[in-house]
Parts: sequence; structure tokens; C-alpha cells
Amino acid sequence: MTAQIISGKDIAKQIREEIKQEIAELKEKHNVVPGLATILVGDDPASQVYVGSKEKTCQALGIYSERHDLPESTDEAALLALIDRLNEDNKINGILVQLPLPKHINENNVIMAIDPKKDVDGFHPVNVGKIMIGEPEYLPCTPHGIQELLIRSDTKIDGADVVVVGRSNIVGKPIANILLQKKEGANATVTICHTGTRDIASHTKRADILIIALGRPKAITADMVKDGVVVIDVGVNRIGKTEEGKDILCGDVDFEAVKEKAKAITPVPGGVGPMTIVMLMENTVKSAKLAAGLV
Ligand code: NAP
Repeated sequence: MTAQIISGKDIAKQIREEIKQEIAELKEKHNVVPGLATILVGDDPASQVYVGSKEKTCQALGIYSERHDLPESTDEAALLALIDRLNEDNKINGILVQLPLPKHINENNVIMAIDPKKDVDGFHPVNVGKIMIGEPEYLPCTPHGIQELLIRSDTKIDGADVVVVGRSNIVGKPIANILLQKKEGANATVTICHTGTRDIASHTKRADILIIALGRPKAITADMVKDGVVVIDVGVNRIGKTEEGKDILCGDVDFEAVKEKAKAITPVPGGVGPMTIVMLMENTVKSAKLAAGLV
């Protein structure tokens, strides 16, 4: 069996068109323009690329965007003061602080300072808790993107055995929680594996859907999966440079070997990555609609 390739690039493009349409209607019918503020502290090159592409996507879709680039030496108080100001700014519906932050800034304090109504990353404990009780306001972008990939590739989630490898707060735990809910596009039986799991392969081998987010190149090999599995590879690993100096990327799954057994699989790049940004845009639009009393 050679797997169907689930193209995040194509699905993200389709969702972008839907969002663009919605933004045009919001402007035309209600004079509402969603606004996103991004904050980048320091000059990490990868973070600069991420923030740059978020800004470009805002412009392409008609979202007002504001970029705050702060020096590495910025102290926590100054960052919190900026967040306070953006919390009060009516033009801004979403605040995104690019992670990771420099070591001298406490990430949790920063996440907690963002008004949960503007927490379009979905990392604030209020929003995390709302997912837990099945009343989500904002789903975190990467897990939401994963769920959309499954739904839009017609993968049966209801009743499926889902195995998630990785338990980070931004991917593993929230996707497990989302797919566990007694809802459409969810209702799965979910197992989470991590470094404390005794025999990971014994779990991955029985999965109908495998979601891999551990940050180890090609760690999931063909002998660890069953025939007909659907694989979502979240990992992004830089394993070298091309002659032109571009990063060579690979996922956490041995794509070439696993695709021969899987029913469907996401590539890296072009799988989960493109979905994360569109889900951020979707959350920003939702926040604008909530603020305008339209939902
Ligand atoms: P993270 O915070 O480093 O968490 C990694 C998780 O994997 C941890 O729970 C860790 O277990 C587990 N793990 C690591 N090695 C393991 C092993 N050998 N066996 C079992 N479990 C293991 O990573 P993350 O932020 O979730 O990111 C994971 C990957 O996804 C990275 O490559 C990242 O770049 C990528 N990512 C991509 C996107 C996107 O938009 N495409 C978004 C976010 C992340 P412990 O908890 O026991 O330490």
C-alpha cells in the first residue's frame, strides 16, 4: 500500500480562501477589521521567519497587523507593559508572543498576562481549561490544524484508536484533549506516549491514527506502525543545509518507509506547518467577531 499524501499546503490554501471571504464580508456588512499584534523579543532567525510569515498572511487576508520587535535585552516588566497596552487596544483582537522567549523572561507570566479573549494562540490557562471541559473558545493553532487535516482528509476519528507521541503543552496534550471530546471530529480513544512510556512501539503499532510530536528526526520507523494507519507528523527537524544554504527539513517519522504501510500520511515540510498559521488567522477572526458581538 502506498499512502495518500495529506497535503497541509493544499488544505491550508482552501481554508485561507474561506477566511479571506469571511473577512471581506465582515468588513462589508459590519465594518469590522480583525487585528493581530505580534511580539518578537530578540533576533532568533527562525522566530523572525515565523513572525514575518504571520505578518504576510495577515496582509494577504485583509487582517490589520502590528509587529513589535523588541531587543533581546527587554525585561519582563517592559514586555508585560506592552501586553497590557495591547489588551486595551480595540484595533487588536489577537496578541501573539513568539516563543521561545529569552531565558530571563518567565514564559508563564507572559502567557498569563494576555487577555484570554485575545489569546489567539490558545495557551492561556483559561482557554486550556475551556478545552478540557469541552467548551473551547480558541483551540491552539497546531492541534487545531491537525484536527482539520484529519477531518478534511476524511479520516474517521470517531471511535478510532489515536496514539499521540509527545506531551508538550503546545501539541501533545492539547491534541489529545481535543480528540478525546465527545464531539463531532473527535470522540477517539486516546493514548499519550512520552519518555516515561515503557514500550512505545507496543502503543504505536495498534494506532489507527498516529500523531507524532517529539522533535527527533525519523524516530518512528515502519516496524512501529500497523498497515493502514493514518500518520500526522508534527516534527520539524533541521538536518543539514542545501548548497544554497537553505535548511533541509525532516519530520519525526521515517516518511519513505512508513508511507509504504500507511493509508495516509502528512509530509514534512508541507504537512502540519502550513496549517498552524491559518488557524491563527481563524482564531483572530473569531476574536474580532466575539468582540463585535457577532457570535
Ligand atoms: P517538546 O516541547 O520538546 O516536547 C517533546 C515531547 O516529546 C515531550 O513530551 C517528550 O517527552 C517527548 N519525547 C521526546 N523524545 C522522546 C522519545 N525518544 N520517546 C518518547 N517521547 C519523547 O516539543 P514540541 O514543542 O511538542 O514539538 C515537537 C516537534 O514538533 C518539534 O520538532 C517541533 O519543531 C515540531 N512543531 C511543529 C509545529 C508546526 O507548526 N509544524 C508546531 C509545534 C511544534 P517528555 O515530556 O517525557 O520529555
